[in-house]
Order: sequence, then C-alpha cells, then structure tokens
Amino acid sequence: MERTLVILKPGCLQRGLVGEVISRFEKRGLQLVAMKMVQLDEEILKEHYAHLLDKPFFPWLRDGMMAAPVILCCWEGYNAVQVVRDMAGATRSSKAVPGTIRGDYSVSSQENIVHTSDSLENAEIELKRFFVESDFCNYTSPLNPFKYAPDEM
Ligand code: UDP
Ligand code: MG
Repeated sequence: MERTLVILKPGCLQRGLVGEVISRFEKRGLQLVAMKMVQLDEEILKEHYAHLLDKPFFPWLRDGMMAAPVILCCWEGYNAVQVVRDMAGATRSSKAVPGTIRGDYSVSSQENIVHTSDSLENAEIELKRFFVESDFCNYTSPLNPFKYAPDEM
C-alpha cells in the first residue's frame, strides 16, 4: 500500500488543530505508521522546498515553517498519496474547496495548515528526508477487511 508524508505546519500546532487534522485522516481510513514532532531548520527547508528557492516568498515560507515545531506523519493506505492530497485541498487556501483541510481551516496561500506529498515518487523521497527506517511501525489493522476489497490491501 502507498505511504505519503504529511507535515502539520507550525500554524496547525499553534492554533490547536493537530487533533482535528489527524482525526480526518484516521476517519478516512488511513493508517498512521510514523509520527514525530521536530523543529525544522533552514538546511532541510531549502532541500524540501528546493522547487521554490527562487520565489520571492521563499524567505517568508522558510521563516513560517521554522516559527514553531511541526509534526511529521506518514500515512498509509490505498492510493494514499492522491487521497491525502485531495483532502488537503488547493495550495491557495482562499481557493480551497470547503470540506478540504485548507478550505475549512485557512485562507492563506502560505499558512495553509499542512504539507502533503504531491506524487508517489516525491512521497518516497520526502519520507526518506524526514524519517529513518526504524521510525516506521509495521502493523496490520484488523479492520482492513472492513475498509478494503481483497485487491486493495
Ligand atoms: N506557498 C506560498 N505562496 C505561494 C505558493 C506556495 O507561500 O504563492 C507556500 C505554501 O505554504 C505551500 C508551499 O509554499 O504549501 C509549497 O508550495 P507548493 O507549490 O509545493 O504547494 P503544496 O504542494 O504545499 O500545495
Ligand atoms: Mg508541494
């Protein structure tokens, strides 16, 4: 099954939305396989947001991501990368559809609650960036037969 990275951004933590956001992924049926709280630094943010380094807003994004700790989560499930991405909603929260995380909890293009991996390939790269192998807990939910068809597990 697919695994994807979610980062609960500093604003999510400071605004007391951690439980609500994690609860959404749980209720959708995704399985949490790794989680840790860390203070990000400039070095890892330059790597993580390398595609945005030359944007004028990069310093604001970097400082926002270092303004408080973040919570790193790895979620596992059928089509997890796309499912989680769709649950997050559009990058520009003011355009994000209500019912999505960004559409329900934010209006900013920068302070948009969560990071989610945008492809399976990037999910693998990003999970390796923030976790070591021993961080992943491999366990099987007894509810899987109630969540999935046999060919989806
Ligand atoms: N961002 C921003 N201004 C923009 C676009 C993006 O501050 O105009 C920030 C925002 O926090 C976003 C992050 O940069 O989540 C990464 O941008 P990306 O295009 O990868 O969007 P995402 O994958 O997070 O939806
Ligand atoms: Mg992105």
